[in-house]
Amino acid sequence: MKNHAQAVIIGGGVVGCSVLYHLTKLGWRDVVLCERKELTAGSSWHAAGGFHALNSDPGVARLQSYTIDLYREIEALSGQDVGLHFTGGLNIAATRERWEFLKAYWTRHRVLGLQTELVGPAQIREMCPLIDVSDVLGAIYDPREGHLDPYGATHAYAKAAVKQGATVLRHTRVLELNPTGRGSWQVVTDQGNIEAEHVVNAAGLWAREVGHMVGARLPLIPMEHHYLLTDDIPELVQAKSEIPLVLDLDAEIYLRQERKGVLLGVYEKDATPWAVKGTPWEYGDTELLPPALERLEEALTKGFQRFPSLPNTGIRRIVNGPFTFTPDGNPLVGPVPGLRNYWAACGVMAGFAQGGGVGLALSQWMIHGESDTDIFAMDVARFGPYATESYTIAKAREFYAKRFQIAYPNEYWPAGRPAKTSSVHSELSAANAVFGVSYGLEIPLFFAKQGEPAVENPSLGHSNAFQQVKEECQAARNAVGVIDISAFGKYLVTGPNAEAGLNRVLAGRIPAVGKIRITPMLASSGKLMGDLTTLRLAKDRFLVSGSGYLQAWHMRWFDEHLSGEGVQVQNISEHSTGLALFGPRSRELLQRLTRSDVSKAALPFMSLIEADVAYAPAMVARLSVTGELGYEIHVAAPYLRALLLEVLRVGADLGIRQVGMYALNSLRLEKGFGIWSREFSRDYTPRMAGLERFIDYDREGFIGRDAALRDRDKTPPRRLVTLQIDTSNADASGYEPILLNNELVGFVTSGGYGHCMGHSLAMGYLDSNIPADQEGLKVAVNGEFRACKVGTAATWDASGARMRQ
Ligand SMILES: Cc1cc2nc3c(=O)[nH]c(=O)nc-3n(C[C@H](O)[C@H](O)[C@H](O)COP(=O)(O)OP(=O)(O)OC[C@H]3O[C@@H](n4cnc5c(N)ncnc54)[C@H](O)[C@@H]3O)c2cc1C
Repeated sequence: MKNHAQAVIIGGGVVGCSVLYHLTKLGWRDVVLCERKELTAGSSWHAAGGFHALNSDPGVARLQSYTIDLYREIEALSGQDVGLHFTGGLNIAATRERWEFLKAYWTRHRVLGLQTELVGPAQIREMCPLIDVSDVLGAIYDPREGHLDPYGATHAYAKAAVKQGATVLRHTRVLELNPTGRGSWQVVTDQGNIEAEHVVNAAGLWAREVGHMVGARLPLIPMEHHYLLTDDIPELVQAKSEIPLVLDLDAEIYLRQERKGVLLGVYEKDATPWAVKGTPWEYGDTELLPPALERLEEALTKGFQRFPSLPNTGIRRIVNGPFTFTPDGNPLVGPVPGLRNYWAACGVMAGFAQGGGVGLALSQWMIHGESDTDIFAMDVARFGPYATESYTIAKAREFYAKRFQIAYPNEYWPAGRPAKTSSVHSELSAANAVFGVSYGLEIPLFFAKQGEPAVENPSLGHSNAFQQVKEECQAARNAVGVIDISAFGKYLVTGPNAEAGLNRVLAGRIPAVGKIRITPMLASSGKLMGDLTTLRLAKDRFLVSGSGYLQAWHMRWFDEHLSGEGVQVQNISEHSTGLALFGPRSRELLQRLTRSDVSKAALPFMSLIEADVAYAPAMVARLSVTGELGYEIHVAAPYLRALLLEVLRVGADLGIRQVGMYALNSLRLEKGFGIWSREFSRDYTPRMAGLERFIDYDREGFIGRDAALRDRDKTPPRRLVTLQIDTSNADASGYEPILLNNELVGFVTSGGYGHCMGHSLAMGYLDSNIPADQEGLKVAVNGEFRACKVGTAATWDASGARMRQ
């Protein structure tokens, strides 16, 4: 047995074998996979083998597409048949609501590069004579869906990897992982030890246990899942071609042909976690769980209605097997925060649709230091400590049960909530706040009218929140608004080398003491890594702030690139809270609460002071996310409640109003201010995102500078714009195509109603060669193409005079 390797991959399921293959594909040779039994001995051997490219997250859809294209490649390389059946797939809608939803969703496929089409009941029936289409309204047809042989696919990855120099050790169980002190790991197996520079946890059903070996808690849980295999069905015996994979979204069942019968899989409402206390080491190989048909009754009844020949067909076999789910159903990929050279490739619910993409992205990251595209939706660092075992089980059960339910853009599912609340949660509730959730924390979306229920109706169009949000926006533009900023991410960077460290990690200019600057952060490739704001509290003390849901993601980057000798980075997000005040009367209100001078001369735009505000020792920062005169009052958590009560009392005669995130979104869209995961992400460069004015190109030594300099001289393929859309009762929400003469010329990143400008707005990326006054542009809103125009006319107070006043 080898005693040293560049990387040891733990787990020989489809995901581990894909990682092994991709590491060799990208050039590493000295890579070893340890499998405790035979390859596929976890979930992989009993998968239904279906694959599809459709996914609501564009990054994941892209990688699923890649996975599908890969099968021919590994088949050819390995000589192993993967049993590919490109049957195509139908996602059918049997309710009006679902059909509207599918049509709206379908327009986005052009942006994602998916060649899908909408088909009607007659075409559906032609493609699949087993379906009763009497209540079916239509379907999305994707020609690239199909199924394969899970054993063949897993072995093809492994054989291709071995041909390219990798080693596969079967019957080799990893028992312990010990840090060597040199940044590498001692991998202790029952067959001997290997020193590995990198370790990949691809242990599938045992990923939690392999996490515990290094003290990591990975938010995933195995869930039971059933499918049935039937005897032959006469229609299929006679048919010349195979039927497509069918997903009946309303019945929550899927079906595909298996020989001359079918495989019918079921997502039951009462999802059952398996091995909650830990996956037994002795489980696996060819073991299954006892079937529990009584749990499937409701779904099977629907399945038998949809496919009327099934009740008269014998059941050949029932499979009940476990596979892992995360709280949001997406995989856990990337470096596990807090650990060096320990990588996750687990929590993969659809290994045969996603395994290739997971392997590619992870291998790029391990070898090049970053993945080529934005994969935040799969990043292990999208979860924080709030993703406890109870939270994970509650959310995974909910995801399983609602997997095919219509997910409205304004909907926040209830399981695992409230997990975290701010110290003014009771006050916000008393003011009738309707809450959403960000990084486990309850955040106010809007404030319902007093006396009315604090709920928002899930909707693709304008919801019952519309009028309330409008009033909140108007208060912010005409008087003063206040919002709890507990959800923001805040990092205290201190020490004699703090400035030098920030000069390396941030691409923006570092502010002078008492000043604030927008400081983007770049990866080595020159793509955006963060849209941070830096506040300088003292010579050697900085507060860096950004989106709260990125805390683990930011901290992982800081741990790697910023912390070190003479620089300490502390995540103080949960302890340091505050309020944002904004609107033309916000200065007057603030001045009533403090003896410190907050006049324009004493506290100009983008500066800060330490001040007592009401009863709280505070740091007051003058900045604006709304485009109005505005302040953030940062206080320690115990002061927040008293501060809010005092702000509301003192501001009553100034027209103060509590404002939620929806209003904030409307206000920032009117201003054309982008936000992370929408306008800004790892897919864009500062030039594309219009952030180059914040980059300190002349300063040497910051991460990504070389690439950013090269990028500065090129015309980017697309640029960020604001769009004004001709639509009345719905807005764009993200990834809708922008067309010119039916050609794709861009896509939307976020949308909403500009309540103070009085029209629908969106931001998005548009081909650079399209002029700002281009006529004839159209954008899809809920499946219908609407006229839109681009330009500064769509921007509130384009000169910025209001926020600088
Ligand atoms: C009934 C059912 C139907 C499914 N249908 C589909 C489908 O149609 N399409 C689809 O894409 N997906 C489907 N899946 C899901 C799919 O099976 C999983 O996504 C996939 O198998 C996950 O692969 P993996 O490599 O992450 O994990 P696993 O397959 O669980 O592999 C992990 C491997 O790690 C090994 N291991 C663990 N710990 C150690 C250790 N300490 N040392 C050495 N080795 C270790 C295990 O022995 C195991 O072989 C289905 C799953 C089930 C149960």
